[in-house]
Amino acid sequence: MTQVVGHRPYRPAGFVVRKEAFANKTLVHNYGHGGGGISLSWGSSALAVDQVIYSGHKQAAIIGGGIMGLTTARLLQEAGWQVTIYSKSVARHTTSHVAGGEWGPFSVHDPLVSSPAFKRQIQTAAKIAHQTFSSMVGEHYGVSWTELYSMSKKPPEPHGEFDQFYPFKQQYGPGSASLCQ
Ligand SMILES: Cc1cc2nc3c(=O)[nH]c(=O)nc-3n(C[C@H](O)[C@H](O)[C@H](O)COP(=O)(O)OP(=O)(O)OC[C@H]3O[C@@H](n4cnc5c(N)ncnc54)[C@H](O)[C@@H]3O)c2cc1C
Repeated sequence: MTQVVGHRPYRPAGFVVRKEAFANKTLVHNYGHGGGGISLSWGSSALAVDQVIYSGHKQAAIIGGGIMGLTTARLLQEAGWQVTIYSKSVARHTTSHVAGGEWGPFSVHDPLVSSPAFKRQIQTAAKIAHQTFSSMVGEHYGVSWTELYSMSKKPPEPHGEFDQFYPFKQQYGPGSASLCQ
């Protein structure tokens, strides 16, 4: 039996938040978040909302009921918009639903390919998203702080892209920590 568990569409140049005219409407794209869409959701969707918030309109159709569609819809609702979500599938059939849900906007772009403008975009999105998830910690939303361990044969990058969000980073050498039993 084949079990489809989702995919992580990745663009070396990074995820797309961009508006364009579409007949008499404004179409805002918000896609391509690779392995970091849950992490970036509130931030990327805030950037998407920012594209239309002063347009004078108050009605939106959201296409897609994954994390990007839902966070965009929520932000627009909070700004007083009337929102309708159109989606091929909902909740447990979306990629968002099967994601690990760990905060870490990694595998989202190739830093050797992405532009300086994109690097600013991902930092802004990460910052907004991190602040939003931090404010949601607790049983009500099911968001919690947790320790995160990763193993590597290579030493960590001295200045990682998202180091600012991991202020208590600690490096262990061979034999200096007993993590597994
Ligand atoms: C196994 C796995 C683990 C992951 N773990 C993490 C993690 O720990 N942390 C993290 O930040 N990210 C993680 N990710 C990445 C993250 O899940 C994605 O980046 C994110 O879910 C993408 O959200 P989305 O809303 O763009 O897409 P989706 O969740 O795929 O939602 C797309 C929506 O659009 C709808 N749709 C599609 N086509 C149409 C159409 N033609 N018409 C109408 N509706 C349509 C779909 O039905 C769906 O509702 C993981 C991904 C996978 C696969």
